[in-house]
Amino acid sequence: MDKITRIIHSIPVDELTGSISVPIYQTATYVQEAPGVNKGYDYARTNNPTRAALEKIIAQLEGGFAGFAFATGLAAIDAILKTLKSGDEIVAVDDIYGGAYRLFTHIYQKFGIKIHYVDTTDASNVSLYLNENTKLVWLESPTNPTLKISDIKTIAHLAHGVGALVVIDNTFATPVAQNPIELGADIVMHSGTKYLGGHSDLLAGLVVVNSEKLADEIKFIQNSSGGVLGPHDCWLVIRGIETVALRVERQCENAVKIAAFLASHPDVDHVNYPGLPSHKNHEIASVQQNGLFGGMISFSLKNDTEEAALAFVTATKYFKLAESLGGVKSLLCHPSQMTHKSVPRETRLASGINDSLIRLSCGIEGADDLISDLQQAFDKVKG
Ligand SMILES: *Cc1c(COP(=O)(O)O)cnc(C)c1O
Repeated sequence: MDKITRIIHSIPVDELTGSISVPIYQTATYVQEAPGVNKGYDYARTNNPTRAALEKIIAQLEGGFAGFAFATGLAAIDAILKTLKSGDEIVAVDDIYGGAYRLFTHIYQKFGIKIHYVDTTDASNVSLYLNENTKLVWLESPTNPTLKISDIKTIAHLAHGVGALVVIDNTFATPVAQNPIELGADIVMHSGTKYLGGHSDLLAGLVVVNSEKLADEIKFIQNSSGGVLGPHDCWLVIRGIETVALRVERQCENAVKIAAFLASHPDVDHVNYPGLPSHKNHEIASVQQNGLFGGMISFSLKNDTEEAALAFVTATKYFKLAESLGGVKSLLCHPSQMTHKSVPRETRLASGINDSLIRLSCGIEGADDLISDLQQAFDKVKG
């Protein structure tokens, strides 16, 4: 079946009324016939039909056993970490999302969880840190903002060898391009704020698990900790999912053209994009992401100074200067002064975040317009 047919028809028609749009159940509680006698719903933190619809849709989209919707991507990550206990260890990709780094290092470390940050672009590096205490291997592929690719299948095999679970933050790839559970991952999470929502108008987090045991654990944590997504935002994410494949395919097409333009531009030093044959793990990305290399690009300037980068990011017209990504409108940012400002300069440079690195989130505008916009910014910076 065509991917888009499958996505559209995984969204249910309301059984009660035939409503083609999933109804928004804006309620805190449900009237019961007698104590404990109800229609399967008793309190909205525990369960809400709009949320249940979204959770089922995302589980289907990722090919998992069950899905869970949280208030933000970080609330989703937090719920996964709460499956751990003191003494457990995590092996995590070294240029993990900054907010995940902050949560792991500044909150969970103090509860006795040990985190090893590893360059997972070589799967063999992961083996060095696996032991009987390793409970999670945490990957992003592609990563932010340097678009590094890790071999999910190989790493899952290694992790399972010591009984560890593999979690993939699939925010950048999206379920349209990459389905980590098929590749051997146990848990997939998304910041629904990005491509799934797709319009830069909400915050959301999603978790999909591959077994009933993990589903029971995450359900218990979701209800106990309470970071659930409200019904109206669930509905907006469902509406976003209806067009996610169309949007992402267009965004990937734009990104391929823009990456090629940048790679041959005289003012550009280096382009990070998994779709370029020069990318270290281009071959792995080709297979793992079904030929869709994503809508995110980063590049550094020949003039590797913060001044040049700041001049560039304030010179574009269609690429709006903002944090976040994945929306229909193109965005750009300067990671070292914005998303990665809290990372010490030496650490930043070591992971490839130069002073002039610029990150692009390609939207759905015309590729030629986006390329002209970048060209006029190069011209302006030159003066
Ligand atoms: C944005 C983002 C998150 C966090 O999501 P929020 O919805 O902002 O909490 C996690 N991982 C990645 C890769 C992200 O881009």
